[in-house]
Amino acid sequence: MLIEKIPVGIYGANCYIISCKNTKMAAIIDPGGNAEDLIDYIDRLGLTLKYIVLTHGHADHIGAVPRLIALRSDIHIYIHEMDSTMLSDSKKNFSEIMGGPLVQVSGESLKDGDMLILGDLHLEIIHTPGHTPGSICIKVKDCLLTGDTLFDNSIGRTDLEGGSYDQILDSIKRKILVLDDKMKVMPGHGPASTIGKERMNNPFLII
Ligand SMILES: [Zn+2]
Ligand SMILES: [Zn+2]
Repeated sequence: MLIEKIPVGIYGANCYIISCKNTKMAAIIDPGGNAEDLIDYIDRLGLTLKYIVLTHGHADHIGAVPRLIALRSDIHIYIHEMDSTMLSDSKKNFSEIMGGPLVQVSGESLKDGDMLILGDLHLEIIHTPGHTPGSICIKVKDCLLTGDTLFDNSIGRTDLEGGSYDQILDSIKRKILVLDDKMKVMPGHGPASTIGKERMNNPFLII
């Protein structure tokens, strides 16, 4: 498995490209911008782009989706069913006020426990509502991509539409902190961490 982190868009959100070394199948997680750079990376490594998976429906994570569809028509786009209306509504996903391209597309729905097969890899979908109602984390091998749910030493904001502070804390405690301390945390913004480090140091999670 190879995971490449590429900061994209005006907010520098972390986009990740996950690929299977044996089959060369690839998935892009949260393409918030820079569609051409992402496709360059895919082509340079001779990968086959199979999926786009979105951790939630905010513009800084989905901004490049329309351009990627235009460049590669045969890809599947996945988002949790509770954020799917955000993907198709440029008001709800904030692309209308963020100055980038409008995002109004449809995707296929995910729910908790779903598994996407990417060559020899399994992408496990964990529903972690709180930042948005349909926020997800994606577990693949010893890595957890946490979107805007859990950051290095912080958690996602909950003051936007559909956000809930109680819910994000509940999601993190019940569904993320139960994972192995050694598991890598790869967030939607900022540097990487581990479950153990967040359990010990994250000021939002210390009771
Ligand atoms: Zn967000
Ligand atoms: Zn974000």
